[in-house]
Amino acid sequence: MKIKELLSASVKKLQGYKVNEVEHSIKLDDNSSPFEFSQKLREKWLKKICNLKLNRYPDSTPQELLNLLAKLNNCDISNVSLGNGSDEIIQYLIQMFINPSDKILIVTPSFAMFKIVPQIFGVELIEIPLIPTKTDWLLNMPNILKKLKSAKLVFLATPNNPTGNIFPKKQLLEIIEKTKGIIVIDEAYYDYSSFSYRSLLSKYNNLVVMRTFSKVFGLAGCRVGYLLADSEIINYYNSVRLPYNINTLSQKTAEFVLENIDEIKNNIAVLMSERCRLFDELKKIKTLQVYKSASNFILFRCEYAEELYQYSLEKSGILLKLFKDAPLENCIRLTVGLPKENVEFLRTLNSFLKLKGA
Ligand code: PMP
Repeated sequence: MKIKELLSASVKKLQGYKVNEVEHSIKLDDNSSPFEFSQKLREKWLKKICNLKLNRYPDSTPQELLNLLAKLNNCDISNVSLGNGSDEIIQYLIQMFINPSDKILIVTPSFAMFKIVPQIFGVELIEIPLIPTKTDWLLNMPNILKKLKSAKLVFLATPNNPTGNIFPKKQLLEIIEKTKGIIVIDEAYYDYSSFSYRSLLSKYNNLVVMRTFSKVFGLAGCRVGYLLADSEIINYYNSVRLPYNINTLSQKTAEFVLENIDEIKNNIAVLMSERCRLFDELKKIKTLQVYKSASNFILFRCEYAEELYQYSLEKSGILLKLFKDAPLENCIRLTVGLPKENVEFLRTLNSFLKLKGA
């Protein structure tokens, strides 16, 4: 049987998301946290999870975790729900709001899943390219405002990935105000920028704020994301959400992280000062074009990006994220690592530049 013939039209065209699975020893490619639990925390965590009843299904509505999230975000428990990573939340929001002829507006380049998940469902995308300057990526406001009326769902990440910048608040407020459908602000990297649109939730019942445990909280491996929204949206979300979407170990580990948030958030200070140091060092190199960052990664462009990517991998086992297609041709996204990993990256970069005479 020809399986391809049986696929839905949208899946037939799909390229999907490819994870770069090359061998490496230093991971600076995926914007996850470089910090593991300290020994003390690890022991405390093991105590929390050792008696979990894994023979039973997970809690469908984990009250303790939801309560902690509501407290953290100064909202009611009816304003929060969970996803198996933000990726799953994107999928549910599309299932909730999109009819066959509806469109989704995104800016490009942005988070890959804003494009891939709609493509799985065969949803038409309105893509508005960002305007690159030497150091920043700007919103094309006239084009966005022109197209906003025809979008049922809008996805915007701020700080944005892979560009790393935040968008001006005034412009985002205008977009939120003028959106006729649902507007999703993805705040995956908000802890590194310290600005949130959460306080607007009481004013706009069509606003959804999305967060993840995959960055500052260091739980990319647990797949936990959450959304904050009007209770009506949360109710519908919960009726679309599969009943056991967050497994028991992930629920309890997320809860554990929130119970020990002070210790975990200590890492932010280290990461931010490392980002500044990396940024300053990169800026000194004349042949690099370095973009502003309000995230845990830095995007830069150079003619020799592909060679640098290969050299870092072969000489030092450092995995970077390389982009080849416009508008990101010759761009590398460097995730801020542990101090010693960043030192190793800078050492590798300098020896590469010496070799190149660049
Ligand atoms: N949103 C943005 C903007 C991201 O860059 C990423 C991770 N690369 C995510 C969400 C993913 O979050 P999660 O791991 O919760 O699916």
